[in-house]
Amino acid sequence: MVHAGALPGAEWKPGAGNPIAVRLVHEMNTRAMSGLVSACGHLCDSPGVVWWIPWSPDLMRCASCASDVLLATRGTREDNRCDGCGRVVDRIRTGVLQAGAVVIILGLCNDCESER
Ligand SMILES: [Zn+2]
Ligand SMILES: [Zn+2]
Repeated sequence: MVHAGALPGAEWKPGAGNPIAVRLVHEMNTRAMSGLVSACGHLCDSPGVVWWIPWSPDLMRCASCASDVLLATRGTREDNRCDGCGRVVDRIRTGVLQAGAVVIILGLCNDCESER
């Protein structure tokens, strides 16, 4: 199993009651059930942890592919966009959220992170 700490920037976990966390899990489930999410080529046979990234929501990824997306975003304007409110802010807090076998990677501004 890959631990979230292995991914760059994962520094916190939102509380289970965080409304943005709840919304993201709901959005992921809705997309998946609507057939809008496919899987990267590495997930086929091996059960294990799957990664979902809200700003690139069409694919469930293995840890390696998830890491590629994070690194590609790093340093860009999108890197500082809040997954809660959509604003681009100076400081974003990157976190992980576990929903069953899926780990969701998200970034929130201070306002959204403190909303619980
Ligand atoms: Zn992959
Ligand atoms: Zn926000």
